[in-house]
Amino acid sequence: MLKIKNISTYYGNIQALKDITIDVSEGEIITLIGANGAGKSTTLMSLCGIVPVKSGSIEFEGQEISKMNPDRIVSLGISQVPEGRRIFPQLSVRENLDMGAFLRNDKDEIKKDIEYVYDLFPRLAERRHQQGGTLSGGEQQMLAISRALMARPRLLLLDEPSLGLAPLIVQQIFDIIKKVNQENNTTVFLVEQNANMALKIAHRGYVLETGKISMTDDADKLLANEDVKKAYLGI
Ligand code: ATP
Repeated sequence: MLKIKNISTYYGNIQALKDITIDVSEGEIITLIGANGAGKSTTLMSLCGIVPVKSGSIEFEGQEISKMNPDRIVSLGISQVPEGRRIFPQLSVRENLDMGAFLRNDKDEIKKDIEYVYDLFPRLAERRHQQGGTLSGGEQQMLAISRALMARPRLLLLDEPSLGLAPLIVQQIFDIIKKVNQENNTTVFLVEQNANMALKIAHRGYVLETGKISMTDDADKLLANEDVKKAYLGI
């Protein structure tokens, strides 16, 4: 579904990504783990067309997307949940969800999808009229994921959904990510510092170290790998 081939990305003279290659098949949950500053967010932003790619290629369902504008990329079926959630704080929960469907005009289907995300996250249904900015961190993360789902993505990109949240909430959110993957065959690209939780729901993982992929394997094998345990799992 997605083929990232030898991409390099720079901020001015600083090379943030060095020859990154990642393949994602339809229906998979892939996780990209790595320390602070390894280049995880840059990889996602390169994918979304937010940060320009200097060399290499990114193919989504056979189409080259590395030179496309972000809105065009969204229209192909790729939605991002950015780091730090970035919901619209002045808008209500319901209005935030409507924003996620801005490229669609199938009103009845949009209504169904709103009910679907309310089923996934009953807290959002309870708070549908509340301003986004007044929600707790965990609820805002739920809203950010739901807003992305309102675009009916085939590929969902998540940037550190666990950031700053209590373990119990993280568990709930990761359970929902798994459910969405299984129920709708939504392919998931999950960027995480919380390697333990991410590898538990992912099928395969990639380890990013200072802008380079240092390892890739099935998630259960990475969880059992001694180097990964020492560097990322605190074991
Ligand atoms: P984090 O977990 O902290 O978000 P990350 O793995 O997502 O880390 P990136 O944010 O992609 O890492 O950063 C990769 C490298 O690029 C880092 O060295 C960072 O300092 C640098 N970098 C990121 N954004 C910029 C920017 N706008 N300008 C210059 N350098 C940047």
